Amino acid sequence: MTETVPPVIPAPNKLTQFFWDGAREGKLVIQRCNNCQTYQHPPEPVCHHCLSFDLGSGEVSGQATIYSFEIATQAFHPYFADKLPFCIAVVDLPEQAGLKMITNIVDTPLEDISVGQAVEVTFRELDSEFSLPVFRPAAS
Ligand SMILES: [Zn+2]
Repeated sequence: MTETVPPVIPAPNKLTQFFWDGAREGKLVIQRCNNCQTYQHPPEPVCHHCLSFDLGSGEVSGQATIYSFEIATQAFHPYFADKLPFCIAVVDLPEQAGLKMITNIVDTPLEDISVGQAVEVTFRELDSEFSLPVFRPAAS
């Protein structure tokens, strides 16, 4: 008998709600300082650049470049057991030097994934409330 394990669902808080709201609408939204316009991810209560507490958010292009990646071959939660192997990656977002996010690379054979590869955001619905931003090879 195969048991369907539900996905791990995010637990948004005041700092992260905008990110999940954006993802549900198919938008990649990153925290941005209202004072100095610096992006930062993951969201923090204070701007790392100017120390302002006046933080907002902004939609980014969804384009990215793979900075680093690994292929997961072991499930650390039962939900992932039937999804192995899969790719966990750190991607560089072009909007700002050093702006990175951790994600999954999807819709490609794992052996085709490489550092420096151009990717673009897409979304995977986790349930009726949450979608997860993931990346796939960029359309050329
Ligand atoms: Zn700032």
